[in-house]
Amino acid sequence: MRLALFDLDGTLVDRTAAFADAIAVLSHDHGYGPEIEQWLLSELADRAERHDFVRLRKAFNLDEDPDHLWRVYIDRMASAVTCRPAVLEALSRLKETGWRIGVATNGASDIQRAKVRATGLADLIDGIAASGDIDVRKPDPRLFELAAARCGTQLTPSDWMCGDNPETDVVGGHKAGLRVIWVRDRPWPDGLTTPHHTVDDVTQAVEYLLTHSAE
Ligand SMILES: [Mg+2]
Repeated sequence: MRLALFDLDGTLVDRTAAFADAIAVLSHDHGYGPEIEQWLLSELADRAERHDFVRLRKAFNLDEDPDHLWRVYIDRMASAVTCRPAVLEALSRLKETGWRIGVATNGASDIQRAKVRATGLADLIDGIAASGDIDVRKPDPRLFELAAARCGTQLTPSDWMCGDNPETDVVGGHKAGLRVIWVRDRPWPDGLTTPHHTVDDVTQAVEYLLTHSAE
């Protein structure tokens, strides 16, 4: 049985769009002005974790409990994030064809799982490894290995990784001994090991895998 691992943010789900919405709602609900909203938009732009809200409280002398704010943020992100129906449908077909599907994501355990549940991806995937689970981040091969283990299997050279980040997903996938599909969202950086295949959308990556599985 073949295994396909996917990155989450920017590959299966659109974190960027959800993020702006989530920060706007969180700021509005707490009566935060533009200064705090801007701080959140810039400090949490790449990723967010509980500790960011400890820093927020310090930076602006806020009363709110960081744990409370972190839970609110997770809740808002889970409400705002979406996985397009075409992506869900493509993954369903991959699953029906007998592929195991895993997620290997850099991010805090609780928020990444909340997103997977809220988008309906949880019903389609066999396992998820978040960097927050073991404090190991892509491109470290151990996160890919954990994702495979969570899918009840081990990595083999015929398995695939699919993601949008050249360093964490593509170089990381290579390091883990996987074949790699890059979901292109920027020019390819010079000097990095190139992907086996490049697509503009994750649904095309699934199409490619479906074609391969028939061979
Ligand atoms: Mg990504």
